Amino acid sequence: MRYVVIGASAAGINGAKRLRELDPKAEIVLISKDDAIYSRCILHHYIAKHRSLEQLRFVAPRFIEEHQITWLKGEEVIKLDAQAKVIATKSNKTLSFDKLLIAAGGHVRFPDIPHLKEATNAIGLHSLSDCAAIIDAAKRAKSIVIMGAGLVGIDAVTAFLPQINKKNITLVELKPHLLAMQLDARAASVYEKAFADAGVKQIYDVKIDSLTVNARNKIKKIQLSNGEILPCDLLVVASGTAANVGFLAGSGLKVDKFGLVIDKYGQTSHPDIFGAGDITGLHPIWPVAVKEGIIAASNMFGVCKELDHFFISKSTMNFMDIPTMSLGTPNIENCEVLIDEDSKGNYKKIVHKDGKIVGAILQGNLDYSGVLTQLIANKIDVSKVKKPIFKINYADFFKQTKDLEFIYKLD
Ligand SMILES: Cc1cc2nc3c(=O)[nH]c(=O)nc-3n(C[C@H](O)[C@H](O)[C@H](O)COP(=O)(O)OP(=O)(O)OC[C@H]3O[C@@H](n4cnc5c(N)ncnc54)[C@H](O)[C@@H]3O)c2cc1C
Repeated sequence: MRYVVIGASAAGINGAKRLRELDPKAEIVLISKDDAIYSRCILHHYIAKHRSLEQLRFVAPRFIEEHQITWLKGEEVIKLDAQAKVIATKSNKTLSFDKLLIAAGGHVRFPDIPHLKEATNAIGLHSLSDCAAIIDAAKRAKSIVIMGAGLVGIDAVTAFLPQINKKNITLVELKPHLLAMQLDARAASVYEKAFADAGVKQIYDVKIDSLTVNARNKIKKIQLSNGEILPCDLLVVASGTAANVGFLAGSGLKVDKFGLVIDKYGQTSHPDIFGAGDITGLHPIWPVAVKEGIIAASNMFGVCKELDHFFISKSTMNFMDIPTMSLGTPNIENCEVLIDEDSKGNYKKIVHKDGKIVGAILQGNLDYSGVLTQLIANKIDVSKVKKPIFKINYADFFKQTKDLEFIYKLD
């Protein structure tokens, strides 16, 4: 049996590891455009020089050898023939497979702003090579602009904080506050103040209207929709990602507007081809990619596993040493909202509908996150618990049977 895995990141590495655990004798070939295994979530620490390349790796140094994986690194897959079960790479290699896991992730999506795609100093933050380009461009830059205040944009801002006394760092965002997917205005304002105090200029509720570029395609100025003009020597693009499905054109696999289509088993429209992670374009976060990689690999081997989608909307962050957790959909409308806050800056918000918690934000003290996670994940009807929602503990909904098994049960 030959398993081929495309992608050596969260989904691909965890998929390959699971395949080896299940099938000690099979041949496993891993192919990746990247020639290193690293976590994208901590790339900003590399730019800030808080971590070395070595410290970005999320597997043991001898992971590949120990798992007897053949790793074709620095190889880009450019074509897949699903019917013939063959892939082709940019360096003219072809490889057949019995089962294939596609975990090729995504890339930064550059919005349609004239000159943006060709500009030599507009760089997305996604890979190690992006980091090298950003570090190099930042050396000569006086004014750095970050487009997008989502998790990646805020990572980019923190990456430049060590240089804040020497450079102008400006964050521009379309939405009225930062981390608009994860936080409400109240929780976001705590981060906005901390960044402002550190010297970061932030402009919300604006879009980039146009760019002034020089003869060498270098952005010099940015015109915003509020009329403001920003000087710019480096633009970090963090306004969203798109799935890497280009090489699947003509493959015969089903792809939709988000990315590769998979079912709850990770299976694509071909029975021997599976997909996992950001390639689906649906939930581009690390824990989902890990889980999907493991589930797809299990099903490739024949151990039936289904994806439970709880991890989809759980984000934990600690920017500026302020811990925050966002669960579910905390900004959803037409729900009841409960807030608990104290003078020390601890903030809890729970959003619920028909007895079920649909979203929550915790900032400062995250002690309640374990209970909340269980309440949301197990869809516990909190209206049946006869105490205030912020005082619920495990004992209120977690019971032990006489066989000492834990079950979810309300009295
Ligand atoms: C800067 C940044 C910060 C982030 N921070 C967080 C965070 O704090 N928390 C969180 O949960 N998530 C975070 N994410 C998202 C998270 O990193 C992704 O969800 C996760 O990396 C997805 O893993 P993946 O394996 O699906 O794909 P990717 O990590 O994108 O890896 C894709 C792999 O496929 C390879 N590849 C791509 N195309 C080809 C091809 N044609 N041929 C061969 N190989 C190919 C690549 O070389 C790579 O090895 C962040 C992402 C970025 C960019």
